[in-house]
This record gives sequence, structure tokens and C-alpha cells, in this order.
Amino acid sequence: MDDDNYLELRGIKKSFGAFVALDDVHLSIRRGEFVCFLGPSGCGKTTLLRIIAGLEMQSAGRIRQAGRDISVLPPAGRDYGIMFQSYALFPNLTVAQNVAYGLVNRKQKRSLIAPRVEELLQLVGLPGSGGKYPAQMSGGQQQRIALARALATSPGLLLLDEPLSALDAIVRVHLRNEIRELQRKLGVTTVMVTHDQEEALSVADRIVVMNQGVIEQVGTPMEVYREPASPFVADFVGKVNRLEAVAEGDRWFRCGEMRVQCQPANGADFRPGREVALYLRPEDRVIDGVRDDDPMRCVGTVRHVEFLGGNCLAEVAVDAIPGQPLQLQFSLNQMDEFGVREGAQLNFALRADRLRVFPV
Ligand code: ATP
Repeated sequence: MDDDNYLELRGIKKSFGAFVALDDVHLSIRRGEFVCFLGPSGCGKTTLLRIIAGLEMQSAGRIRQAGRDISVLPPAGRDYGIMFQSYALFPNLTVAQNVAYGLVNRKQKRSLIAPRVEELLQLVGLPGSGGKYPAQMSGGQQQRIALARALATSPGLLLLDEPLSALDAIVRVHLRNEIRELQRKLGVTTVMVTHDQEEALSVADRIVVMNQGVIEQVGTPMEVYREPASPFVADFVGKVNRLEAVAEGDRWFRCGEMRVQCQPANGADFRPGREVALYLRPEDRVIDGVRDDDPMRCVGTVRHVEFLGGNCLAEVAVDAIPGQPLQLQFSLNQMDEFGVREGAQLNFALRADRLRVFPV
């Protein structure tokens, strides 16, 4: 076993009757890595996590953890801690008893359990709360206890199944940062399921984007955002503009009355006449110091401005691309400086180097 292959999934398939929930999933997770399974509801991410945990049996395929084939081991024979969306704490047990659960199951010495529980409660920011009952704690605190419980036996793998989605927005952001910090500190290999792209982008070392039972892309947050491997990934991870265009050969594309040259995502050279879609993030435009001879220069009219706090999203009708308005992002300072408001005319340029091209 090498550190690059701490957890290996090979040819994982899962069918529920005739329905294929996972189709030939291959994935290697490094030791100490924080990986997020990201995808829309029903894409199979929870099923994949449950298969890793042994809570669901794959229809085909093998799993190895730390070089050991765990494919058919029951959950108790595997080496992980798990945390679910619903806190899943035992309501009739105290916080300390909840955290100690796995240690008692493993028949650890009583004299060692109490200090370990207190150490874990300190780790999750709840020192001294062992005598309380779950019902006396807030949702965020209960999730911290569930995290302490998942970490109690110092497992090799931490599995998190949508652990934050039941919490309100502010607690969610706090806790995700705390989970990330703790994960770094402990160096525990972690897999988290989420359907929240912002959450995945902010905590993961690598994101596994899933769609309809298959992996669409595995990459760092930056790779998945900047270099999406498919239209699905471009659409699902972050906001994006999709422009219809036609290939003219030699990496030139006609989009409305504009001609743009850009590198197709997979290096393919589309034959002339082929219909394609160009994908561009709202921030991938230049507004400061646009040169008159920039071939990507556009003139457009602001139709609508959506205020988003620190920045805004402007819908801009571009003269040269009729019928395909663009969503462009500006900071508040740029809004003031360049007069981004409804009805205003804007001079800007698209960043050809950031366009992604896919066949339609
Ligand atoms: P969500 O975020 O909604 O939980 P998900 O991506 O985690 O979505 P899964 O829960 O893995 O999706 O489910 C994948 C697909 O498999 C879904 O279409 C679901 O209906 C189906 N499925 C899951 N478990 C079962 C089961 N026990 N029996 C039948 N179908 C199932």
C-alpha cells in the first residue's frame, strides 16, 4: 500500500433491482486527504459512502483500505468513524456516554475512557459538557458531539454523510471550518458527502463530482471550477454562462457576430460547422483598461443588477451576441467606478483564455 492509494475503489457497481445507482466507479483516495463526493440528489453519492462503510453491499467491485481488502467485511470489521446528517445521538445517554460508545464496544479499559472522552470534547470545543443530555444542546453542538463520537477510536477513515445540511447557514459555515481544521490537525483521511458546491469547494482537497451513478470529474476545487471536464460539471459547480456557437475550424468559433479563438477543453479540434457551447464564468471578463483592438471586446447594455453583498451579478445584453445575455460579476467598487447599473452601457472584454468549449 502506498499513501496515494489509502482507499481504493475498483469497478464499484450497485443496482437496486433494474435501477443502476452506481456504474463502474474507480477512485483512489490518498492518506490524509479530505475528499468530497458532490452531486445532485439521487446521483449515488450516499450509496457510495454507505458501500465504503459496509452499510450497503456493492453489486460488483472491490474496496481496499490501507492495503487490506475490505470488500465483504461487515461494518464492525472496518476501520472508520461515521457521522450522519441527523445527529443520530442516543437521546437516553449522556454526552459522555455517547462519545464513549465506540470505546466501550471495543472493551477499552474504563480508566482510559473518561480522559479520552474529555480530550475529544475539548477537541470539538465542548469541554466539560459530558454530563449533559443531547436534548439540552443545540443542533451545532449535537453535531460536534457526533463528530467526537466518530473520532473516538482514532479511525483510519472519517466518513461524513451530509453532516451540515440540517444546520442553519451561520452554524454550517462555522462547523465546516472547524471540521476542516480538525481534519488537518489529526490528518485523518476523510470522505464527506454533500450536495452543496460551496461547501465542497471550501473544504475539500479534491472533489469527486458525480452524476447519475458515474464520476464526471475528480480534481482539486480549483481544477473543477476552472477546468470543468464536462458541461454538467461547469453547470453544477458555480455559476456559468453558456453560449451557443459554431466551430469554424482551427480553434475559431463564431458566437453571434463575434469570432473567438480558444482551446477546447479536451484538446479536440471541432470540424467547421459543428455546434458547440462556450462556457464562461461570470468573473471571467475584463472591464479595467480594455483595449480597442481586443478581439474579445464587447459593448453591452445592463438589463438587471442582482446585489449579492460584496459583489453583484449584472445581466448584460451584448450587441454582438444577440439573444444570449451574459451574467457578469463585478465588485461593488467596480460597480461604482464603471457605472454598472440598469440601463447603462458597458465596455468590457471576455477572457478567451477562460472559455471552455464542449460539443452540444
Ligand atoms: P441524496 O442527496 O438525495 O441522498 P444521493 O446522491 O446521495 O442523493 P443516493 O441516496 O445514493 O443518492 O441514491 C442514488 C439512487 O439510488 C437514487 O435514485 C435512489 O432512489 C436509489 N436508491 C438508494 N437506495 C435505494 C434502495 N435501498 N432501494 C432502491 N433504490 C435506492
